[in-house]
Amino acid sequence: MELLSPIDTIKGVGEKTTKLLNKLGVYTIEDILLFFPRTYLIYPEPSVPNRDSVESLISVAGRMKTSPKVFKSRNHMDILSATVFVDDIPVDLVWFNSNYLRNNFEPGKIYIFYGRLILDKGRFKISQPLIFTPEKYQEIKKQLLPIYHLTKGLSNNLVTKTVRSALDGCRLSDDRLPAEIEARGDFISYSEAINAYHFPDSYEDLVKARRRLAYEEMFFFILNSRLQENNVASYPNTFNISHHKFTDDFRNRLPFELTEDQLKVLSDITEDLSGEYITQRLIQGDVGSGKTIVAFLAMLDVALSGYQAAIMAPTEVLARQHFESFKTWCEDFGIDIPVVLFTGSMKVSEKKAMQKIVDENDACFIIGTHALISDGRQFGNLALVITDEQHRFGVQQRDKLSSKGDKPHIIVMSATPIPRTLAMILYGNMHVSVIKQMPANRLPIKTCVIKESMRNTAYKFVSDEIEKGHQVYIICPLVEASETTEAANVIDYSKKLKERFNDNYSIGVLHGKMKPAEKNQVMEDFAEHNIDILVSTTVVEVGVNVPNATVMMIENANRFGLAALHQLRGRVGRGSAQSYCILMNESSDDNQSKRLNIMLKSNDGFYIAKEDLKLRGPGDMFGVRQSGDFSFRVADIYQDQDELEMASKDVDDIINKDPSLEKHPKLRSTLNSFLTDQFYVL
Ligand code: ADP
Ligand code: MG
Repeated sequence: MELLSPIDTIKGVGEKTTKLLNKLGVYTIEDILLFFPRTYLIYPEPSVPNRDSVESLISVAGRMKTSPKVFKSRNHMDILSATVFVDDIPVDLVWFNSNYLRNNFEPGKIYIFYGRLILDKGRFKISQPLIFTPEKYQEIKKQLLPIYHLTKGLSNNLVTKTVRSALDGCRLSDDRLPAEIEARGDFISYSEAINAYHFPDSYEDLVKARRRLAYEEMFFFILNSRLQENNVASYPNTFNISHHKFTDDFRNRLPFELTEDQLKVLSDITEDLSGEYITQRLIQGDVGSGKTIVAFLAMLDVALSGYQAAIMAPTEVLARQHFESFKTWCEDFGIDIPVVLFTGSMKVSEKKAMQKIVDENDACFIIGTHALISDGRQFGNLALVITDEQHRFGVQQRDKLSSKGDKPHIIVMSATPIPRTLAMILYGNMHVSVIKQMPANRLPIKTCVIKESMRNTAYKFVSDEIEKGHQVYIICPLVEASETTEAANVIDYSKKLKERFNDNYSIGVLHGKMKPAEKNQVMEDFAEHNIDILVSTTVVEVGVNVPNATVMMIENANRFGLAALHQLRGRVGRGSAQSYCILMNESSDDNQSKRLNIMLKSNDGFYIAKEDLKLRGPGDMFGVRQSGDFSFRVADIYQDQDELEMASKDVDDIINKDPSLEKHPKLRSTLNSFLTDQFYVL
């Protein structure tokens, strides 16, 4: 079996399974090896059921006083039912069509039952529990069983089996990193790491695997950016861009005044654009600090100087929103510069029409998603490229866009709060500007963490805000299993909400599995206030701007990383009205409450991310990913800071001695395969 062989090379993977795996982005043997578990099942210590553990997966150790009974359900299913007593608390157990289990129990003996605890007419109940003897349970309790992302029709068992076959059937090369690095870092080998990341023998095993893979990802990420930088480092600026008085006039006529930080960044950019070398600048500004207008003003100078300027957004919704803002600004202020849009869901004819405008105009504003960089598109007069929320793009994509013109100026904008030292590592020798201040009209967002028992109060609050003319986001429980669940989750929830509010409000639904055009429509409806409440998965996390929305309610907030919660919270508080963030904590774990309470203390994204990390026990490390930043599979810039710094030093060592990797052919080829594999288009 070769790494690049198609997935159906594996025995037992037929046409149907292949299709399903393809859906998850798995095409080759290598893909499945890198299709890492999203989390691991660890069987919990047996416990005594209580109201707080309802709805969670638990195991109970108990005795049956009488043997299980069989009866028929209304739809003629055989039901096996029994009651065990755990410290005298009865727990009902049922199994469907499993009568044979009846004779498996020795009366009076203790067994362990594992499953989801529910409350049924005031009694504890577990449906279809797994059954273990105490000895067997002791053994499996140590194991971590991989849980994969799935799609409808594909079971976790099947994926697990397929991964095993792939691991057994192919040899992974163990010389991806130079030997001295392997030794210095005290890493386990690549093949061991891949094996252990899927099937760890113990928690320690998993930590070692993770460390190795995270290091490697960051190593190649940094290596790639260092090589790229060397190519463009001091590229002479041949554009003739000047600052225009019109830009200042426009700025003065805006309904708000720019903050000092916004002005400072703008003057940095103005200086850059007329400097000796082409610009490479990172603009870091927390959510809501007003990066878009800064981008527009920079692009306006470029366009007024007779060039094209582009801005690339990570999602279609965001690209469209920028497009609308740009158009409005141009119309309202009589700016006669065309604004064009390229997104993946546009018809070919629409794209052609847009391309025609680009071809016919020296100066224009170009806005788009990664469709901007799809092959064949040409921007003949491009002088500035801005990537918004840049971390969502792979380095490759950024570079691809910059190769569209004649080495344009590059600005990247990011709301990911990372400290300066890290920014230096990740963005190499880019200049960094920071927007710290929030616009003056902002009131700090009021945040609260509440329990299920306060749900009615929360809904009352939501309805009061709507009565005041505001709008509300509700983020639905994180989805786990399949696409169908993702849609079902939000749709179900919105139905319940409609009933709850007696159909008084208009409720919209947004989830990742909708077609881009549908998503755009919903977002537009929300922006135009045709929708009062937007029930959504985390797809609204990035960049969306609807200043009239004043409430962000997040269900199951305990399942999110705080950095993600911070980004979500940043969707409100974008206008002058007081905004609120309601975090529903569905966990009874004290640590979770402590963690969520950090959100009450600070509005500083970096502080929040760091505190989150401190409070998280090692067991949480794999469940909650801090953020999907930088398209890493394993690595996390907050969690793996030590490895990040190590990788940076190691890369510098190599590049200083061997700037174009001539003496490291193996590293070069691994890097190439790593890049095509890693930075898939979003
Ligand atoms: P982000 O930095 O998160 O991308 P945006 O650029 O989307 O933030 O800006 C958020 C909102 O703040 C927008 O409605 C924008 O018009 C507004 N805004 C930007 N700058 C200012 C300012 N100086 N004063 C008041 N409002 C501003
Ligand atoms: Mg933004």
